[in-house]
Amino acid sequence: QKFVYDFTEGNRELKDLLGGKGANLAEMTNLGLPVPPGFTITTEACKGYLANGEEPAALRDEVTAHLDALEKQMGKKLGQGNDPLLVSVRSGAKFSMPGMMDTVLNIGLSDKSVQGLAKQAGDDRFAWDSYRRLIQMFGKTVLGVDGELFEDALEAAKTAKKVTVDTDLEAADLKKLVTKFKKIVKTEAGRDFPQDPREQMDLAIEAVFNSWNTDRAKLYRRQERIPGDLGTAVNVCSMVFGNLGPDSGTGVAFTRDPASGQAGVYGDYLQNAQGEDVVAGIRNTVPLAELEQIDKKSYDQLMEIMTTLENHYKDLCDIEFTIERGQLWMLQTRVGKRTAGAAFRIATQLVDQGLIDEAEALQRVNGAQLAQLMFPRFDDTATSQEGKVEKIGRGIAASPGAAVGKAVFDSYTAVKWSRSGEKVILIRRETNPDDLDGMIAAEGILTSRGGKTSHAAVVARGMGKTCVCGAEDLEVDTKRRRMTVGDTVVEEGDVVSIDGSTGKVYLGEVPVVPSPVVEYFEGRMHAGAEEADELVAAVHRIMSFADGKRRLRVRANADNAEDALRARRFGAQGIGLCRTEHMFLGERREMVEKLILADTENEREAALKDLLPLQKKDFVELFEAMDGLPVTVRLLDPPLHEFLPDITELSVRVALAESRKDSNENDLRLLQAVHRLHEQNPMLGLRGVRLGLVIPGLFTMQVRAIAEAAAERKTAKGDPRAEIMIPLVGTVQELEIVREDAEKVIAEVQEQTGVELKLALGTMIELPRAALTAGQIAEAAEFFSFGTNDLTQTVWGFSRDDVEASFFTAYLEKGIFGVSPFETIDKDGVGSLVRNAVQAGRATRPDLKLGVCGEHGGDPESVHFFHEVGLDYVSCSPFRIPVARLEAGRAAA
Ligand code: ADP
Ligand code: MG
Ligand code: MG
Repeated sequence: QKFVYDFTEGNRELKDLLGGKGANLAEMTNLGLPVPPGFTITTEACKGYLANGEEPAALRDEVTAHLDALEKQMGKKLGQGNDPLLVSVRSGAKFSMPGMMDTVLNIGLSDKSVQGLAKQAGDDRFAWDSYRRLIQMFGKTVLGVDGELFEDALEAAKTAKKVTVDTDLEAADLKKLVTKFKKIVKTEAGRDFPQDPREQMDLAIEAVFNSWNTDRAKLYRRQERIPGDLGTAVNVCSMVFGNLGPDSGTGVAFTRDPASGQAGVYGDYLQNAQGEDVVAGIRNTVPLAELEQIDKKSYDQLMEIMTTLENHYKDLCDIEFTIERGQLWMLQTRVGKRTAGAAFRIATQLVDQGLIDEAEALQRVNGAQLAQLMFPRFDDTATSQEGKVEKIGRGIAASPGAAVGKAVFDSYTAVKWSRSGEKVILIRRETNPDDLDGMIAAEGILTSRGGKTSHAAVVARGMGKTCVCGAEDLEVDTKRRRMTVGDTVVEEGDVVSIDGSTGKVYLGEVPVVPSPVVEYFEGRMHAGAEEADELVAAVHRIMSFADGKRRLRVRANADNAEDALRARRFGAQGIGLCRTEHMFLGERREMVEKLILADTENEREAALKDLLPLQKKDFVELFEAMDGLPVTVRLLDPPLHEFLPDITELSVRVALAESRKDSNENDLRLLQAVHRLHEQNPMLGLRGVRLGLVIPGLFTMQVRAIAEAAAERKTAKGDPRAEIMIPLVGTVQELEIVREDAEKVIAEVQEQTGVELKLALGTMIELPRAALTAGQIAEAAEFFSFGTNDLTQTVWGFSRDDVEASFFTAYLEKGIFGVSPFETIDKDGVGSLVRNAVQAGRATRPDLKLGVCGEHGGDPESVHFFHEVGLDYVSCSPFRIPVARLEAGRAAA
């Protein structure tokens, strides 16, 4: 096994082995770009070290061999007195990871070689500056000394000299600082700063290995779902110096703007500086464009290299470079992070440049980015208006969106105020399951503790609610119902605005503007800013790529004409789930009560008769809105008690009435009914098809309403395409009975209206038994729609209403699953039932139509799964339709 690769030996495909940084350094080397020579120690070596607590036996010799070769090539020896070779030791995992060890520069400097370096460079100041940097970085990251001690000493030196920037310190000052730093190391680490260059290098390499398992690194991996066993590579790279005076410097650059995607010159440059100086904000950097004036030759070369890199990687790259006395060196590149908007624009620009094709463009964006672009956002022009609103803090952007409301500090008040029509922001130190009601009632949630997997963050994302968490500057005082941020006090009732996409918190009301992307989908794209139009144009093109490629059709979950019309504008190709329970609420509740309370056949029939025309009207409107496209109507699903008054409230009312001796007959009957229908476990009780089988006339009334509505639309020259869906079927017998009754009713309606009707009859597959016997069920069903919400509940034995708030946070933190199975389909468990049911169903009935309704239909990863198992369509809420279209296209591309 080979543990060390020279930069000339690797390439960008070897990220697993060489880490991202190492693989790309090799790629640049092989492109002929000026990269300082060096080598990479593999992740395998790291894994071996971590497993056994010591370096693999062969590693030391291999490092020695590569170091020898490097020394030959450079014509210098590591740390050698009169002309030392210096190197950096740089960590570099497959994924870039904050929380891992920092890089140590200038390895090889010692009390002796610092003199040699000074002589060779003809610059004392530079040599001592490099040495103090080494001790500082080495002390902090390898020996674990508190970095502030060094910074304080540096500050003190500047103060003593009455200067403000470190470049004003002279050689003598830096020399003194080195002595000081060495003392700090001695006291804090209990050992001398190592003078042997090879020992420095070996200790640094070991420290990089160990940094893979720091708490911060582990936490980050868990949050980002990065496997814990990848290990990190270590890069040893010969030093080039940006701190050799004004004709030297260091910088970062992007091949195009990572915020907007625009081509151009983006980056920062700092003269006479080394390493992180440019991003550390210690001195003012200049925009990269100014490098043209400072050093035209290097600037032109850099521009050329950026073009080379973009054409080679066919994507936006970010870059670290250093100029040493007029000579340009490339120190790092990678495909750069970008905002969601930039991702869409860059993808289309690269297509226009002929660098990538449409299929590749689809891989450069994703549904989560599109969803992000669809959230309403704060009006940028307003947040920059001084005085009107004040930015008071910033936390973690946990769940996107822009929320405005009155500050409340407990759930009870949140619920109370929101009931009376107030918009509220729930502010807590952290949330727990007791806060659930308040979180539901609030426009947004703000906490001062906790990260992206905190209770607040997880629950808010699940609810699609705006959330900023871990805003640590906020002192939340729930007892006194206020929070303080510095001098600012925010009392209960003060208006605050939170931005879940940036984590920013404002005091005052920030105006919210709809997303231009939604305006576009809605067909209302207004003459917005130029930038908005470009974004919209990019989204438009990417969506047309996706629509051109996808096999899955996308339908909407919609219960009324308004939602149906919006869904159509968003590109829905029908309705996959129309829930009828909402049609039984509101003013109609009374009729439903009558139906439930009916003692005699006559009473029941009278109640059903009242409901029929209302139901019919709902369907006529829906079929009209979705004219020409399929509409799947699900017959009544939830348990009946959901339509009755709350048991406690009603009991109290009855008891009070009794004590006043004026009991109301109806209330008494209601109470009896509530008791009769009360179930310990309504989710597993009398609902769905079971209801249809025990309440005579209920399902047939609904079928009649659908059939009559379809007939009416046909008479009006419309094209209704109704499909009737039976929920919660567990066995084919249930379906057969309902089917027989339904067919009778449909025949009657045809007879009465003289209109020929073709109504498909199918079922949901949402119980494990249904999935397991799908082959039988397909005999009575013309279509299946997988109800993956209920299927997930029943396969896992999880009550969705309870578990997300009670123990999912713990499960996520322990890594039992990376994401809630209600959010992304559990492929191994629930998914395998779906896969088998698809096969069994099609074996019985080859033209069986297959779809999915439920939250998973709009979840990117799940959409890919449904594509793969061969469903015909996914159905999701209207707002998710563009996301589903895009992901369906990506899955097929
Ligand atoms: P990070 O992963 O934090 O970016 P790097 O390994 O890239 O860490 O190094 C930190 C800084 O030091 C960067 O600015 C980088 O350009 C600089 N640097 C690393 N190696 C060298 C080197 N051999 N010569 C000069 N500067 C270097
Ligand atoms: Mg770097
Ligand atoms: Mg269901």
